[in-house]
Amino acid sequence: TFITVEGGDGSGKTTLIHSLALKLQQTGHEVLITREPGGSPIAEAIRAVILSKENTAMDARTEALLYAAARRQHLAEKVFPALQRGVDVLCDRFVDSSLVYQGYGRGLGLDAVWDINRFATEGCMPDLTIYLDLDPEIGLKRIQNNRDREMDRLDLESLAFHRRVREAYLLVAEQFKERIVTIDASVSKEEIAAQAWTLVEGKLKL
Ligand code: C5P
Ligand code: MG
Repeated sequence: TFITVEGGDGSGKTTLIHSLALKLQQTGHEVLITREPGGSPIAEAIRAVILSKENTAMDARTEALLYAAARRQHLAEKVFPALQRGVDVLCDRFVDSSLVYQGYGRGLGLDAVWDINRFATEGCMPDLTIYLDLDPEIGLKRIQNNRDREMDRLDLESLAFHRRVREAYLLVAEQFKERIVTIDASVSKEEIAAQAWTLVEGKLKL
């Protein structure tokens, strides 16, 4: 089973994934925790190029292609082999991030972003996507208060950019409602984890 977690920066994706992984392991599942962009050495190298604060000259299409390239490498190297072995994959971000950040945030449009991602994924989509919906202003404050996390080039984008991204997430979640479930991420992390676990249990028929 392939599960992805989506949401703006500081919405609690990483925390949720660790909680879900623990519960899955406790019920005897083998789990791969991974993230995008990155998740494999080549894909992490691409991530570093995308997120470097020095790369302010990055063109929006270049950025979209790099995300798709990192996604492809990560799928080929990590996700496909794991799914093949019957391992459950929990991934922090996937195609939906590109739809909203590059498609809407950068204004490239959904169709263009879908096209390059269809090539990258060969149509592989998650069985379940959990979208953590949060006011970007709150998310940004959470990141600023988190000392373990360094701000990257995208965190430094304007609040208007992050607002556009949230609007886009809500649209995409509505468009793919059979796959994407929205959780209000302004509640406690325990509450988020409990709601998400119910969804995962339902999907896995535990
Ligand atoms: O989720 P994480 O913080 O690791 O993502 C790294 C950065 O990349 C974030 O600041 C996010 O806004 C950005 N991003 C993006 N487009 C994607 C995926 C992530 O702009 N497709
Ligand atoms: Mg994160």
